[in-house]
Formats: sequence, C-alpha cells, structure tokens
Amino acid sequence: MFPTFCPNPRCTHHHDQHEDYWGYWTPTGFYTTLVVGIVRRFKCLACGKGFSERTLSIDYYTKRTLDYREIHRAISQSESPSSIARHLGCSSDSVQNRADRLARNCLSLHTLLLHSMKLDEALVADGFESFDRSQFFPNNINLLLGKQSQFLFGITHTILRRKGCMTPKQKLLRSRHEKGYKPPPKAVEESFARLLKLIPAIWDPARSGKLTLWTDEHQAYPRAIERVPELKNAQLVGTFEHQTVSSKAARTIHNPLFSANYYDRELRKDIAAFRRESTCFTRNVANGLSRFVLHLVYHNYQKPHRVNPGLASRKSHAEVAGIDANRIAMGFSWLYVDRPFISKQKISYDNTRIWLKEYSTPLKEGRDYLPKYAMK
Ligand SMILES: [Zn+2]
Repeated sequence: MFPTFCPNPRCTHHHDQHEDYWGYWTPTGFYTTLVVGIVRRFKCLACGKGFSERTLSIDYYTKRTLDYREIHRAISQSESPSSIARHLGCSSDSVQNRADRLARNCLSLHTLLLHSMKLDEALVADGFESFDRSQFFPNNINLLLGKQSQFLFGITHTILRRKGCMTPKQKLLRSRHEKGYKPPPKAVEESFARLLKLIPAIWDPARSGKLTLWTDEHQAYPRAIERVPELKNAQLVGTFEHQTVSSKAARTIHNPLFSANYYDRELRKDIAAFRRESTCFTRNVANGLSRFVLHLVYHNYQKPHRVNPGLASRKSHAEVAGIDANRIAMGFSWLYVDRPFISKQKISYDNTRIWLKEYSTPLKEGRDYLPKYAMK
C-alpha cells in the first residue's frame, strides 16, 4: 500500500487521487506495534508532515483488530451491540466504536455513489416511528426511497412530543422530563423539509424529466415542500408533483407507498433496537444513527432487490436504481479498509451531523464524544 494523498487537510495534496501524489512523499522507515506488527512511516514533501500506514487506515488508533465485515453483517441482521460484543469477545463500547468508524465510511460511500447516478423513477417518502432512550421520547425517522428500486436515498431524524393516552403519573413524568428536554416545534415539518432538500442534489429536471413524490396525507408534508425553493418552483412549472395516498390504504405491493412500507418492515426485523416490546431500544441517538447508516449500505448495496414474494433478483437495490455495479464493487474495496476524511467529502447537512455525532440524546448532558481524527 502506498499513500495516494496527504492526510493533512491543510496540505495542497490532501485532495490528490491515485497516482497524483506520486513523487510528493518519501518513506521514512517503520515502527513496530503489538496490534499489527511492522507499520511503515512516510513524510509528505509538500507540507513536511509525517504519517504512517495507520494514519490512513480505518483502524487508526485502535488497540485491537476486530472484524468490520462481521460487525456490519451482525448490526444489519438484527444483532444487538451487546450480543456482537459477546460473540467477538470485546466490550459493547468497542463494537460501537467500530460501528462509528464504519458508519463514516458508509456515509462516504453512499454520497459518492449517489452523485454518480441519474434519478430515473418516482420517489416515496414516509416517517418511521420508534423512540429514543424511553417511550417518553418518540421519534420520527423520515425515509426517502425509490418507488420501484426500494433504494434508500437518505434519512432525517427528529424527536416528537409524546402524545396519546397517558395515566396521570405518566403525564406528571412527561412534564418533569420536559423541564430538561423539549422536542423541537414543528418537528415533522422541519425534519421532512431537510429530507426533501436531498432531492435537488440528485434530480436534474433537464436530464430526468418530471418527478413525482408519493407520501401519505400528513398535513406537514405540503408545508415542508413549500420550504424547499427548488421543489416549490418546479411544482409551479409542472416538473414536480406531490401525490398522496391514505395511510389506511391496504399495504399491498400495489400501494404507491409500497417501498416505504417494505423498508419499514425491514427495519423492524433487521435492526435490534426497532424490535417492538423487547429490551433492545436506542439508548443514544447518535450511536443509533451510526448503526442505521450501516443498515442503509447493507440494504442498498448488498441485499438483492425484491421482485416477487419469496423471490429476489441478483441485482442490489442500488443497481436497480441505476448505480453501476463496478462502482459499487470499487467502493467495497476500501469500505472496510481506509480511513475516511470529512474534509474530502461532499456530504449533506444531516449526514454531516451523523458523522460528527451531533444528534443529541434527550436528557443526556454534554455532547457525544468524537475523537479528533474523526473531525478532520
Ligand atoms: Zn502534505
């Protein structure tokens, strides 16, 4: 392995690719570690900074090598972090640490592949409901999917105020909790508008023609569309339309919201924290979203597209959505190996918040710990 760019974000060779960096670095020996043995050192001739193979590795600063592929598979196939930790013989914090590292690579891979595609189908958006920390903090995870491909383009997350029937004791507890944490006002509208801002980034009316977005009849959705100028203008000139269907309509394959209903079911069975009435639930919002991103990559790029009940095609959801299989294979060649740098990414606002672990957990003091190397 030879360096293809300088890890220093301020260096003029930080954005180099492939052979661009050739001639601008020099080997400066090696050092020995207990974890992986001999590690080679380099020096950048442009900025003078020294670095090693470990600086460019997904395992930068780790003291133990854990199997990323196994952690990715297990998190995406309904195993809880504590169950994976027992299986690998490590702590659940170590599992979460590796899930965070992999989530940053997953965000990088997904963004890269998303920008390589041409949107060629209608979209479906819906809210997946669960809770964070306790049932006093219900959440809404908005999903944007391809209507035919069932490809998940992106997510946004928000916490809602608990509603519905409550005992007097539960009402008292809610008002106590609200002294420490209040869900944002107009939470669904605001979160849905952030989700819809992904559309102008992937849709070019000149190339893809008219676009239809299917949702249920939630009153916040038309207001959210109003908050995205590109969609509002496209609606006025007729290149974008918003179609609705009742959420009470039969959830069959013929329902226009099928892809959202399908993904909803996948999440319930594939992510341990979303299994109803169990001891598994999301205790930390930022950690939960890292694990969600792992599932997004598993669903989009690894799992075969569903074609009929009980049948699956050989193509992944991403290939059906129009992403080139060779590009996906190339992405997976570095997914479990390289360290991603946020300074080299063009990721969306919400994905940046997931990367930087900026989503806060209700009633949790202070922000979540993020190592310095993950901020570069
Ligand atoms: Zn440099």
